[in-house]
Amino acid sequence: MAEIVIKNLRKDFGDFNAVKSSSFTIGDGEFFMLLGPSGCGKTTTLRMIAGLELPTSGEIYIDGEEVGQRPASERDIAFVFQMFALYPHMNVRKNISYPLISQGMPRAKVKEKVAEVARILGIEDILDRPVGGLSGGDRQRVALGRAIVREPKAFMMDEPLGALDAEFREHMAEELRALHDRMGATTVYVTHDQLEAMQMGDKIVVMNHGVIEQFGVPQDIYDWPATMFVAEFIGSPPMNFLRFDGVAEAGRGSVQMNGHDFLVPDLRDGAKGPLVLGVRPEHVHLSEAAPYRGKVIATEYLGTTQIVTIKTPNGEIKARTGSEASVNAGENVGLEFNGNTVTVFEANTGIALRSAANERVLAHG
Ligand code: ATP
Repeated sequence: MAEIVIKNLRKDFGDFNAVKSSSFTIGDGEFFMLLGPSGCGKTTTLRMIAGLELPTSGEIYIDGEEVGQRPASERDIAFVFQMFALYPHMNVRKNISYPLISQGMPRAKVKEKVAEVARILGIEDILDRPVGGLSGGDRQRVALGRAIVREPKAFMMDEPLGALDAEFREHMAEELRALHDRMGATTVYVTHDQLEAMQMGDKIVVMNHGVIEQFGVPQDIYDWPATMFVAEFIGSPPMNFLRFDGVAEAGRGSVQMNGHDFLVPDLRDGAKGPLVLGVRPEHVHLSEAAPYRGKVIATEYLGTTQIVTIKTPNGEIKARTGSEASVNAGENVGLEFNGNTVTVFEANTGIALRSAANERVLAHG
């Protein structure tokens, strides 16, 4: 168990700056997600925490001790890779016990530990099987077994479910989260899959181009994105952006777009020029009477809901409505937004304006 504190962490590869200046704290026992698109620096960050890569500058504290320049072997961290390599010539039991035997642990103790890990993972019945013929899920469990048997201070996982097909992946994600809840070990998990991050994480760091865009609990990141990048990266369909030129006045709970007033959470910051009203699809309501109007260009039936694509004077947006609502392409519809869920962004910087609703979230972001 360990608390991990990252301060001003930076990594350069030659002239290329892969991680700019990251600071965040991973609480003891947290399941912590590093999320972002390919190349954003999440694996590099994970490798620096594990000691597989040394930072160019900045500090890494594990349980209060600065370990940034120490090798992996001195950090007591277990790494679980996507391409989990097992020793093919050994059976399951030997694969799991190997780290303990190489530490010189007495045989009886090893046996006890392996039995305990096998019970936690539900793989007691395959302990004597060769690893060659195992299913993907069982191979993953054995790889996890080999990592957890050492009882390290923390686990680092780099897209561990990346190689599995969608259905099985979801099952393993649940299993991994349940395993974490039973063991309570600090886990840092890299993924580019926002759903996986939302589903499993206690906290999420969203990275882009080596920069932390936001850091917080999944719900805050979904409801109150700090930047347009986060608003678009999280959620499917992503947050809608209605673009307009105008003034956002501090102290007001509304903005004017195309001559219509739209309620927003009380603004703490003002801005003028190109602005963006950010609205999640489930907060767009079709209403006959609403004066702000658009034209339906497509509907997509999803079973319990449907996604309606609407052309508005401020760009195309998507609404998530009940599947029973009868909406057809070509129709002219009125649009209303839930005022207390809207985020206003400055278009040029992509940064959310502070408001009564999001300032708590942006403050620790
Ligand atoms: P992916 O999911 O594709 O691995 P990532 O967010 O984990 O993406 P990193 O692997 O951390 O990204 O890489 C960040 C950037 O640093 C990338 O542009 C990558 O090409 C570069 N990079 C990573 N390792 C090295 C290296 N050893 N030498 C040079 N450049 C590197």
